[in-house]
Amino acid sequence: MRAYDIIHKKKQGNTLSADEISFIINGYTAGNIPDYQMAALLMAICFQGMTPPETTALTMAMAESGTQLDLSNLPGIKVDKHSTGGVGDKTTLIVGPIVAALGIPVAKMSGRGLGHTGGTVDKLEAIPGLRTDIATDEFLKIVEKHSICITGQSANLAPADKKIYALRDVTATVDSIPLIAASIMSKKIAAGADRILLDVKTGNGAFMKTLEDSQALAKAMTEIGEGCGRKTHAIITDMSVPLGRAVGNALEILEVIDVLCGHGPRDLTMICIELAAHMLHLAEHGPIETCRSMAKETIANGKALAKLAEMVEAQGGDKTYISEPERFGIAEIVRPVLSPADGYIASMDTEGIGICAMTLGAGREKADDIIDNKTGIIIKAKTSDPIIIGQTLAIIHASNKEAANAAAEKYMCSLNFSCEAVSAPPLIYGQ
Ligand code: URA
Repeated sequence: MRAYDIIHKKKQGNTLSADEISFIINGYTAGNIPDYQMAALLMAICFQGMTPPETTALTMAMAESGTQLDLSNLPGIKVDKHSTGGVGDKTTLIVGPIVAALGIPVAKMSGRGLGHTGGTVDKLEAIPGLRTDIATDEFLKIVEKHSICITGQSANLAPADKKIYALRDVTATVDSIPLIAASIMSKKIAAGADRILLDVKTGNGAFMKTLEDSQALAKAMTEIGEGCGRKTHAIITDMSVPLGRAVGNALEILEVIDVLCGHGPRDLTMICIELAAHMLHLAEHGPIETCRSMAKETIANGKALAKLAEMVEAQGGDKTYISEPERFGIAEIVRPVLSPADGYIASMDTEGIGICAMTLGAGREKADDIIDNKTGIIIKAKTSDPIIIGQTLAIIHASNKEAANAAAEKYMCSLNFSCEAVSAPPLIYGQ
């Protein structure tokens, strides 16, 4: 087999065999196929696409390029959850403890934030002492004992994807649905769960900006999951408005605690209950309506909050931060953004709000940027909310006055106002 022939075949729009795909992925991972040939193939895939069997073969080859987790010693059906990311998305930290408190083992490997999107690992690291670099043996022991552990991705999880993603990033080949779907699913397959719930975000703060693209990505990922023998369900949820009110690591942990205490924002609470219900349903804990009630009850009886504290302690964190959240402290500068007029919030540039939080220090533009956990934004008015002149629209948490003022200006630019009433976007678009 020759890489040249495989590139030519895809360029002509033909279907590659599983053997040809394995040859390319194994060869590239081992360093026998150079970047320029891989880049040419990736570009051909961008233009010609891939069939579902090709996408599944690509996913399997990438999943098999490194260590695959064996969760078979954990009891019951293991369900993983993946969100395609956005602004204020702290759902894993709420849904994980809910389902773990109901006996589903949550062995979760999460990512860091980059650019305008946040990452679960960064949010967790806002809790003093908490470790997110847990080696596989300890990770599995924690899940066995506490039903939950959320750690960063191990270095050897789908290394082919890591290498290919870095190449896609510099060759304008990120925005291909089969490549995105295979990249995400290779890590999910290697992470070992029996069933997978996908939360595909849609809107201006998401990776996929249109409903059509989000539906296509959800379909491609579901087909891969099923093709790899893992029952997979996808939900398409809104990201044209930040999720909840908090954006920024410590601020988001405070909001997680609020939701688990039963007084979090309505949108975030509803999405988390829906996701938890679908995880329970995938784990065969009953009809979806029963699963919704179980998720709500686990918040109401305090068991989900207790599970979060238990997980924090098991991962070396200081669990008193969960029972006494005021210990997180507050940023140096806290300043409001005031409404310039009466009317309504017509829409929000959610990506712009994510970038605004990132420039405050809540996220990173480059992989080695340092995060400032206390910084971020509390959103006080969202799309469709009526507003009056002088009302607080948001509160900026910054490390200094200049950063706070610049963020306040940027935040204002991310809002569109209207004199007419506007309706809020749906929270869930479909499944
Ligand atoms: N996230 C991933 O893991 N891979 C992609 O290609 C895009 C988003």
